[in-house]
Amino acid sequence: MNYHILTLFPEMVLGGLSTSIIGRAQEKGLLSVEAINIRDYTKEKHGHVDDTPYGGGAGMVMQAAPVCDAYEALCARLGRRPRVLYMTPQGRVFNQQIAAELSAEEDLVFLCGHYEGIDERALERIVTDNLSIGDYVLTGGELPAMVMIDCISRLIPGVLGSDTSAEIESFHDNLLEYPQYTRPEVYEGMRVPEVLLSGHHANIELWRRRQSIRRTLERRPDLLERAQLTKKEQEYLESIMRECGEENGENGE
Ligand code: SAM
Repeated sequence: MNYHILTLFPEMVLGGLSTSIIGRAQEKGLLSVEAINIRDYTKEKHGHVDDTPYGGGAGMVMQAAPVCDAYEALCARLGRRPRVLYMTPQGRVFNQQIAAELSAEEDLVFLCGHYEGIDERALERIVTDNLSIGDYVLTGGELPAMVMIDCISRLIPGVLGSDTSAEIESFHDNLLEYPQYTRPEVYEGMRVPEVLLSGHHANIELWRRRQSIRRTLERRPDLLERAQLTKKEQEYLESIMRECGEENGENGE
């Protein structure tokens, strides 16, 4: 996977993606990250890449030409036209499924806006996907690009220590992950659940799966509609829903 980030602040993204797991994945050649400075593509004498909005209003708008020229130069170098993901609060909210879909691409371009955003004509010309990281507004698209790159990269074979680790985490299967424990067995009087010390793999799997279902019900019940549960798991879910109902005094009396 090759990430190409179109930005006015290359040092921000390169610094943030050069350490830990994503940094090591680059060293191993599993992925590459390049930041393309949009400012390098301005034809203006003073290096301006933004101007005031037509029609008035606060702030500055990034001009179309340097953005499109930066992308066209990349396409000429690659010999193909990769997908362009515009980081915008107006986009589809990024999630694990979108990450999985994007992880199959060979090249991805992340377009980071700043100030009041980018001239609409550049967006119409080059953007293939509008993506947001949530319903709030940030100062620029660099942090959203880093969030998405981090998430997509974890799904690329070899990036995580074990290929299975991404498959049993939260949101896989629309369930949240079960609780995790490590040494010591007793911390401040709190014991690790006995089943995890038993060495009985089938019981541990059953316990973890049930904890995932319970946790998803408690914290993100909206996910359960799309979770794929076996008949037994569905019965377990119904039993804990009844339990919760009884605790809340919803027994119809
Ligand atoms: N005026 C724009 C609007 O109301 O839609 C917001 C511009 S924002 C201040 C500047 C840049 O930050 C955007 O062009 C976008 O690249 C990025 N950005 C801000 N919030 C974001 C979010 N929630 N998700 C993705 N990108 C975001």
